[in-house]
Amino acid sequence: MKKIAILTSGGDAPGMNAAIRAVVRTAIYHHLDVVGVIRGYNGLIQGDMKPMDLASVSDIIHRGGTILYSARSKEFKTEEGQKKAVQQLKNAGVDGLVVIGGDGSFRGAQKLSQLGIKTIGIPGTIDNDISCTDYTIGFDTVVNTVLDAISKIRDTSSSHERTNIIEVMGRNCGDIALYAGLAGGAEAIIVPEKGFDIEAVCKKILQGKARGKRHSIVLLAEGEGNAYDVGKHIQQKTGIETRATILGYIQRGGSPSAFDRILASKMGSMAVELLLDDKTSRVICIRNNHYVDIDIDEALSMKKQFNDNFYELSQILSI
Ligand code: ADP
Repeated sequence: MKKIAILTSGGDAPGMNAAIRAVVRTAIYHHLDVVGVIRGYNGLIQGDMKPMDLASVSDIIHRGGTILYSARSKEFKTEEGQKKAVQQLKNAGVDGLVVIGGDGSFRGAQKLSQLGIKTIGIPGTIDNDISCTDYTIGFDTVVNTVLDAISKIRDTSSSHERTNIIEVMGRNCGDIALYAGLAGGAEAIIVPEKGFDIEAVCKKILQGKARGKRHSIVLLAEGEGNAYDVGKHIQQKTGIETRATILGYIQRGGSPSAFDRILASKMGSMAVELLLDDKTSRVICIRNNHYVDIDIDEALSMKKQFNDNFYELSQILSI
């Protein structure tokens, strides 16, 4: 192993830069050359790569986004696109590749491994929807961003004695809503894994009101509905005034939390060590507080487990 490449792909997440820094610095520490691929698989197909030195990753550990840019590539989903990418890597003398991204990006990494490129995946997405790992890079930061929003919305919610519906990201995964809702003391959490039971949510809000609660916060995962519709339903059923907030893209930005920076640093460093050990087709995960690597096929075949225990806890604590 003499030269490795790194790319970020799919939706960006805070902490991706910390992972890039860790890959580059660990590689240089082990006397490897490193190139950064610009704009994910699109850049790979076009051979858009730049050499990375120690200074190229200075002053980025605290920055959200990705200095390598991220993109989605339709062409890379085709066999022809994948072959072009392999050729570009061979032309550049690259022996190993680190892909930071989500499930889709890992499918791309799987294809490259099958075509003979040694490839390692690092889970980077705010959604926490990658089954093989307890946490993905960016998730802790987004939970803290949402928590900050809950605190601010709670102030005005209480002044006006309203129910505020806060819609958060996560695609089909309810983890952002669950963790932020639990940390923020939400009265109800609506996630795709559990479905939306309007009767139960309204009953809870009304019970709270009956015992003196002056306002309530409902956390809604984007995969289970729209905050405005849910707000209207709740207002019709309870007679309590509601307001809806869709947090949107503020959730994707911001300086990564300490947890995400450490996760990214360790995973980035491990990815290089795996390549040095001649490993390929592996995904790095954190499970029960241990960093492990598993086969990419296995990682992609796993089904995401929802944290029912935390969901029940949130229900008990919000009576
Ligand atoms: P994420 O990695 O966050 O899940 P996407 O699902 O958009 O994001 O995937 C990112 C990119 O990975 C896609 O634009 C595409 O180039 C590549 N990709 C996704 N699925 C596949 C697949 N089945 N085969 C090859 N490449 C894929």
